[in-house]
Amino acid sequence: MKTIGIIGGMGWESSAQYYALINRHTASRRGGLHSAPIILDSLDFATIETLQARGDWQRAGELLAASARRLQVAGADLLVLATNTMHIVAEDIESAVSVPFLHIADPTADALLADGAGTVGLLGTRFTMEMDFYKDRLRARGLEPLVPEVDRTNLDGIIYNELCRGIVSDASRAVYVEAIERLAARGAEAIILGCTEIGMLISDDDSPLPVYDTTTLHAAAAVEAALK
Ligand code: GLU
Repeated sequence: MKTIGIIGGMGWESSAQYYALINRHTASRRGGLHSAPIILDSLDFATIETLQARGDWQRAGELLAASARRLQVAGADLLVLATNTMHIVAEDIESAVSVPFLHIADPTADALLADGAGTVGLLGTRFTMEMDFYKDRLRARGLEPLVPEVDRTNLDGIIYNELCRGIVSDASRAVYVEAIERLAARGAEAIILGCTEIGMLISDDDSPLPVYDTTTLHAAAAVEAALK
């Protein structure tokens, strides 16, 4: 099995999920005591969040490209970036290394298309919901992404102020469920949990629409690629 490199720490709560999910998926595919060869490069999220708030994507891209290079030098055979938002700088990462980079939107699109979804609600940080980098990647696959028209500030705030700090509350779950209901009323057939921490808050049991958790799908895709 190949070695999976994780650019993580954004936030660390979801990187911990990646670590567990990748190992569990590896055990279920390989059996016995098998676990995954993983190298994690975990960044200080406060530094990254400051750059996000300033819109300094160039510096953020340099830091993530440096992380990717460290992982490649350390022996990673393929890379995942354990955050949706920072895929804004996916090209900087890809051009910094020669090993494959598995874009988080791709396994998500694969799963949605396999289930016949067309119009999909996208929940994530304000960057993921408002900028085009993520929606365009989905559109290129033939999906039609819908983002919330209201509540975006709330949804974004819950990610940074609560989920990235390990806080999970019923009140915030209700905010997300309401946003999903509104997306359903506008024609969404499924929901992308397009932030790696939303799975801490929302599962299929809470949601009126089927949810596609980018963390779970990305982690499983990393294992499948590492087993090839
Ligand atoms: N982990 C989150 C995501 O998937 C948000 C944190 C970040 O801005 O990187 O978008």
